[in-house]
Amino acid sequence: MRARLVVGAMLLALTAHGVAAAPTLATVHAGPDPATERALLSRTGLAKIGQGHIAEGKRDLARVLELWRQSGQTHGQVETLVEFGEALAAAGDARDALALYHRERALSAELMRVDRNAALKDLQTRNDAAARQREIELLARDNALKSAELVNRELSQRIGWVLAAVTLLAITLAALLYRRVRETNQRLAASQVQLQAQSERDPLTNLANRRHFQAVMTRLCGSGGFEGALLLVDLDHFKHVNDAHGHAAGDRVLVEVARRLNDAVRGDDLVVRWGGEEFLILAPRATAQQAEQIAQRVLRVVALTPIDVGSQRIQVTTSIGHARFPLPPHHATVPWEQAINLADMALYTAKNQGRNRAVGITASTAATADALRTVEDDFDRAWHEGRVTLLQTPGPRLGDAPHAQ
Ligand code: GH3
Ligand code: MG
Ligand code: MG
Repeated sequence: MRARLVVGAMLLALTAHGVAAAPTLATVHAGPDPATERALLSRTGLAKIGQGHIAEGKRDLARVLELWRQSGQTHGQVETLVEFGEALAAAGDARDALALYHRERALSAELMRVDRNAALKDLQTRNDAAARQREIELLARDNALKSAELVNRELSQRIGWVLAAVTLLAITLAALLYRRVRETNQRLAASQVQLQAQSERDPLTNLANRRHFQAVMTRLCGSGGFEGALLLVDLDHFKHVNDAHGHAAGDRVLVEVARRLNDAVRGDDLVVRWGGEEFLILAPRATAQQAEQIAQRVLRVVALTPIDVGSQRIQVTTSIGHARFPLPPHHATVPWEQAINLADMALYTAKNQGRNRAVGITASTAATADALRTVEDDFDRAWHEGRVTLLQTPGPRLGDAPHAQ
């Protein structure tokens, strides 16, 4: 109702003052929105003041101000106050124009204060946001740093583990290698010892061979003369044994003779397979008398018990040449090779004297090794001339078939 009155008045005013752009009736009946009402009232109010209808104009503009106040738009109020004041001043109402001016100033001041506060608040908010953003960035950076640090730590830990594993592997490999090398060396050393032993053993009889004997003599005598007893033992007519019983049977005989010789000597004596059917006994601590006893024992142990080879019983005899060095009475120093040669001379004599016997050199007039060499040159003659004294020990009596049965 009230709105229809206001609009009616305004239409009137507008028609009277020739104001263009009047609202249509349809719009007015629906009721103007506050903005349109403000605009219309403002124009009509100002027009009225301009035409001298000051009181009416003041009412319109007071209404405009009220509408602005209700809308909460202070800027609009300020603008209306300025226009209102200027209109009043122009109409000669200086007092109200001043009052309006003061209101406008106060409102503007308030507006400025509010704006400033809002700006400050906005600034503050923006500062806070920036600070928060910075803080977030710092935190993010810190996080990134910490993550990187964590990754680094994990990486170095992993590298550490890998290094430790590699080191452990290397140590294990080195230990395995070292053990393998040590085992190989031990095996090598063992097989060397075995080879050495084998190379110094006679494979048929398992007695020491010449090589071993030479090593023993080098150790025993050094560069000096030989001291001790030597016995060269040779099987009699061994060729006949082979011929009658075969070479394999001959081998069996040689093995058995070797065993018997070993049994016949003492622990520190050495039995050597010197040649095919020839043995050598080294008795380093034996006296001449003991050497003779060994010879006697050998003659008996070999000859007295025939050797069983399959169904056959083979009887063999031996001839022995022996001597104990240095020879009395001059005790000339002789190298071991010469000592063996002299024992061989004695063996030769035993063969010549009929076999199955031992011949020992018990003394020699030769005072030096050289003098003894002249004895060796013609031993038989030297014996007959008395330059060597020989002791004959006969073997056991064996009946009509001394070498084989
Ligand atoms: P002597 O009484 O003069 O010593 O006569 P011997 O027949 O024993 O001597 P000889 O030197 O004439 O012959 C030695 C024989 O010994 C000939 C050889 O075939 C044999 N002989 C040598 N070594 C071995 C061997 O390892 N096994 C066999 N079965 N016979 C061997
Ligand atoms: Mg022989
Ligand atoms: Mg021989």
